[in-house]
Amino acid sequence: MKPPPNGFVSNRVLKLNVGFLLSHGLGLSREVAFDVPDLAVSDDLHLAYLKGTLRISHTSEGILIQGELNTAIKGECRRCLTPMDIPLTVRLQELFTIHPNPTAEFVVGEDAIIDLTPLVREEIIIATPIAPVCSPDCAGLCPQCGHNLNEGPCECELDDIDPRFAILQQLRKQE
Ligand SMILES: [Zn+2]
Ligand SMILES: [Zn+2]
Repeated sequence: MKPPPNGFVSNRVLKLNVGFLLSHGLGLSREVAFDVPDLAVSDDLHLAYLKGTLRISHTSEGILIQGELNTAIKGECRRCLTPMDIPLTVRLQELFTIHPNPTAEFVVGEDAIIDLTPLVREEIIIATPIAPVCSPDCAGLCPQCGHNLNEGPCECELDDIDPRFAILQQLRKQE
C-alpha cells in the first residue's frame, strides 16, 4: 500500500501524521488525497475503493477534517444475495481536539497521529442503505427453491401451486 501523498507519513492509510500542521501556525491547512483499492476499514467493513480529498486544518481547537470521500462497500443484494459493490459518498466534517476531555469523541494522539478509521466507519455505516438492491427491478430469489429469478423463471413458478402442496409433491417425486 503506498503512503498517502502530500508528505504525510502513515503506517495505515487512515492514520495521518499531523505533526507538521501542529508545529506551524494556526490556520495552516493541507489537502490529503485518498485513492485506495480494497480497503479493510474494520473486520466487518470492506471497501472496494476509497477516493477523495480531505482538507485538514490547524485550528485553535485542534485539527479540523473537511471533505468528501467516494467509496463502495462490498455487500450483497438484499433480494437475490448476489455480491455487489454499493457506492456511497460520505461528507466528513469533524474536529479532532488537541484538548482531550471526557466528552471528546475524536482526539489528536500524543504522537500527533489522527486515526480517521472510527470516523470513516461511522459515516459509512450511517450512509449505507438498509436494503441495497442490485437493481430496482431485481426479481430476487424463488422462496421455494432459492433460484435466482433474474436468471429466468424456475420450475416452481411454472407449477404455481400452494407451497404446502409443493412439499407433498416433492415427497411423492422421491418415492
Ligand atoms: Zn438482486
Ligand atoms: Zn423455484
